[in-house]
Amino acid sequence: MSVLTPEPNDQPHLLLACSECDLVSAVVCDQDDQWHACPRCHHPLLRPARSDQATPALAFTALILLLLSLAFPYLGFEKSGVERTVTVAGAANELALHQHPLLSAIVLATIVVIPALYLIAVCWIHLSLMQAWRLPGALFLARWLPRLQPWMMADVFAIAALVSLIKIIGMAHIQLLSAFWTFAGYALLLLVTVTRMNTIALWQRLLGTLRQPARSRPGLTALKQRLIGCAWCGQLQPLGHHHCQRCNSALHDRHPFSLQRVWALLVTALLCCFPAHLYPIMVTSSLGQSDPATIIGGVLLFVDHGDWPIALIIFAASVLIPFGKILAIGWLCLATRRRRVLDMAGQMKLYRITEWVGRWSMIDVFVVAIIVGLFQLGNILTITPGFGGLAFSGVVIFTMLAAHQFDPRLIWDQQQRLAHVGQRMEELK
Ligand SMILES: [Zn+2]
Ligand SMILES: [Zn+2]
Repeated sequence: MSVLTPEPNDQPHLLLACSECDLVSAVVCDQDDQWHACPRCHHPLLRPARSDQATPALAFTALILLLLSLAFPYLGFEKSGVERTVTVAGAANELALHQHPLLSAIVLATIVVIPALYLIAVCWIHLSLMQAWRLPGALFLARWLPRLQPWMMADVFAIAALVSLIKIIGMAHIQLLSAFWTFAGYALLLLVTVTRMNTIALWQRLLGTLRQPARSRPGLTALKQRLIGCAWCGQLQPLGHHHCQRCNSALHDRHPFSLQRVWALLVTALLCCFPAHLYPIMVTSSLGQSDPATIIGGVLLFVDHGDWPIALIIFAASVLIPFGKILAIGWLCLATRRRRVLDMAGQMKLYRITEWVGRWSMIDVFVVAIIVGLFQLGNILTITPGFGGLAFSGVVIFTMLAAHQFDPRLIWDQQQRLAHVGQRMEELK
């Protein structure tokens, strides 16, 4: 297997181990405006370090917009002379009032609590960087920032609001209220803040430049050099330590029992698929009559009304993506044992798509939260959440956990072993 070695140069450089394929690369560190990608698997090693004053300012503005979104009504509607408005927290509260406190907690955590903690942490760390001394908790928060990132879903909620509007536009007169716009602004600024964060550069500012172990060199995997790279701060260090000597995060040369954990999470996700599709996701009650609707039932209703685009979005988010994700992660687990040379660019593409796409399946859960929050009109029309929604959020969470637990370095290790065996066979001929 060929390994690209970076050109030698006189500029100061960092040695970083790729967290997806373990190859050690030299990154020239005075080219601040450039992305640096791993030469073997093209995983971004270092993001451009943009103006650091702008990042906390964006995070602070996003926090203010979040507070405004919580304080004012989000959507309003009028049906049969009855007017009603709903706030973001009110929608989550209605789920809790209808015997689904866990679903309510999941919605609030992913769209409000985790993003708020992330934004506060970004502001606190940057405030600490402006002081002559380090503020308490700055290192702890820096360790947690990248771990919180996958669980922030404000952008998914904003898209879910648009899907809900299309779903209910024929049932009532809908108004977009002030919090709708502030929430969209908050979701956008949160996204911009996340894309500007450069974890390795942040640790450099907090703790100074990375120290390179004496025997490290680019072009070989860290494991081959008896080294291990910290996935969070980038520090290369000798094997044998359980915690990073620089940032104190847990270190794994390969995630322990990675495949067993992934299979267990995939089976749990698959088991959740049954109640998610068999039980109703919401129940509509009007004038004494109850009408439960499953996920597939909702898709078919859109097809009946001729709303093909929205039927396709819900079908993709609720059926194709979760099942496709379970199959894709299962395939990647098997790839770590395959005894033939694989197209590694294809495997890595599959792994990254699987990681990126998972959270978008939460659209359906958020749509339920918004519709349940709005339609509480007593006997005229009341919509309550069904058990299917909670089971479906279980599918999304367990497949996301499985994707995060999977260690793609295991596929590279297997391919490297095969290449080594092939080389030995050639020599023996
Ligand atoms: Zn790589
Ligand atoms: Zn570290």
